[in-house]
Amino acid sequence: MTEKGILIVLSGPSGAGKGTICAALRKEMPNLVYSVSMTTRAPRVGEEEGVSYFFRTKEEFKELIAEDAFLEYAQVYDNYYGTPKSHVMKLLEEGKSVILEIDIQGAMQVKDRFSDAVFIYIVPPSLDILSNRLRDRGTDATDVINKRLSKASSELALAHRYDYIVVNDVLEDAVEKVASILRAETCKIKRNKEKIQDIYKNYTND
Ligand code: 5GP
Repeated sequence: MTEKGILIVLSGPSGAGKGTICAALRKEMPNLVYSVSMTTRAPRVGEEEGVSYFFRTKEEFKELIAEDAFLEYAQVYDNYYGTPKSHVMKLLEEGKSVILEIDIQGAMQVKDRFSDAVFIYIVPPSLDILSNRLRDRGTDATDVINKRLSKASSELALAHRYDYIVVNDVLEDAVEKVASILRAETCKIKRNKEKIQDIYKNYTND
């Protein structure tokens, strides 16, 4: 029997660098699978269907909610975002670890359902730096940036429900910290019961 994969949840304010950390992490840990979310928001320049997101209409999304097709979903800035359930469940059953880059509302839903999942909160070094990063990114209008900043400060109150907090100051350091967390999680006794049994199965004491 294969040990189940680890479900990893990465959250943090927009602009904290979750996407960049995930991309770097995938290079460093090629066995990690990144779950592609579904969203009703419009694609940004350079975003590809099925790679960045699965882009759907609100009607299509609501139908999928009714069919219980999401592992979690949430409304973020007037749009729906959700994690397609069946794909993630299959990967976990096959022993593959899956990383979800989702908002805090979705993360809390996962927390209620998956007691073994690992929750990592990524924060910027300061809100001023976050504000500059969002402006430099140039993808959002000023009112959207302001909404994102106010959401960032109100959400921090929930960060204590995560297992780990990683400050993304120097990208390589942040990636290394997340990778170290994941390496340590793979070594947890509770995740290696079958492996331990396997190692000791032929031992006799005479
Ligand atoms: P963006 O529009 O900048 O790509 O994402 C906005 C927010 O939605 C980010 O905080 C991102 O982590 C979150 N998000 C992306 N995919 C999902 C998802 O599948 N579920 C939930 N709950 N949030 C998501």
